[in-house]
Amino acid sequence: MSTVAAYAAPAPKAPLERTTIVRRAVGAHDILIDIKYAGICHSDIHQVNEGWGEAIFPMVPGHEIAGVVTEVGTEVTKYAVGDRVGVGCFVDSCRECDYCLRGLEQYCAKGNVQTYNAIDHNGDVTYGGYSKQIVVDENYAVRIPDSLPLDVAAPLLCAGITLYSPLRHWNVGPGKKVAIVGLGGLGHMGVKLAVALGAEVTVLSQSLRKKADGLKLGAHDYRATNDPATFTELAGKFDVIVSTVSAPLNFSAYLGLLRTEGALVNVGAPEEPISLNLFSLIGQRKTLAGSMIGGIAETQEMLDFCAGHGIGAEIELITAEEINTAYDRVLSSDVRYRFVIDTATI
Ligand code: NAP
Ligand code: ZN
Ligand code: ZN
Repeated sequence: MSTVAAYAAPAPKAPLERTTIVRRAVGAHDILIDIKYAGICHSDIHQVNEGWGEAIFPMVPGHEIAGVVTEVGTEVTKYAVGDRVGVGCFVDSCRECDYCLRGLEQYCAKGNVQTYNAIDHNGDVTYGGYSKQIVVDENYAVRIPDSLPLDVAAPLLCAGITLYSPLRHWNVGPGKKVAIVGLGGLGHMGVKLAVALGAEVTVLSQSLRKKADGLKLGAHDYRATNDPATFTELAGKFDVIVSTVSAPLNFSAYLGLLRTEGALVNVGAPEEPISLNLFSLIGQRKTLAGSMIGGIAETQEMLDFCAGHGIGAEIELITAEEINTAYDRVLSSDVRYRFVIDTATI
């Protein structure tokens, strides 16, 4: 076991502060990772605020982890000291259910072990990436290709895979018209990935404030959802819409933007339920679906795809002391486009 510096929320809604946590000893199948960078996901904020229900405190958030292996267990075969690795939203799963066997560990029938705010299979509380080191089973880490700098790679571990998985599942590629709703951490990765996959991409943002950025990211069109004309002019246009919005949306209106048999895939995780007019689905055999992160193999595939296309996140690097200000800025949609903590400052 080792004592490690970390940033934690001591109680629900409390500001994060410096503390120490204990990491388990490196087991036979474990690797010890020196965390270099940790991204701030909006999910961290939902959980610190108990927006999704009761949580475990003190909480060390962080599931966008990039670092370097500094020790390996006796049975480790995949990684060696010095390897560049990432850890995403979960650190274990049952390994034997249908979903785990198919590489869909994110949908493990017994529930996977989340990287933080969870109890692992030893009965210990998990602590996330806002810390200097983490011990993880080698099967729940992924390799970060050499051409991807670690700071811009960190957000790929959640924001990247959360968009890559549905874009692939719903066959986004050449000839497909795709809309990404919300240009935040997830949304900006959605634009980059959908463009790299060859689709025609439109950003649907609350206003035109970030239009220049959106077009620079590769979007072909950029529309404001606070302008009612957007919903008439783009009616019936899209094959796939991915919503990354962290607050409840009027999905009935967005479903109107789909062509017949199109799919609206929601990845945002608002704290409140939504209401839906089901006529917006039945008339044209439309699909309303959800998607959650991705499995380990698909996360590796996404990292390799990003390396191949020179894709990293657009980040604002911050010190640990700036975490609370960064949370406020994320909540006011003032993020361009992911805050990443330099863990050397923890
Ligand atoms: P983020 O950086 O805050 O981005 C969310 C974006 O949604 C904002 O930038 C804003 O974009 C838009 N938005 C915010 N409030 C809105 C409102 N009231 N009405 C309309 N649009 C609004 O957050 P994120 O880290 O990308 O995460 C987004 C959501 O996905 C969170 O709920 C998070 O918990 C969830 N999430 C889900 C998964 C999954 O596996 N499904 C994984 C990670 C995160 P504009 O300014 O462009 O309008
Ligand atoms: Zn996340
Ligand atoms: Zn399982």
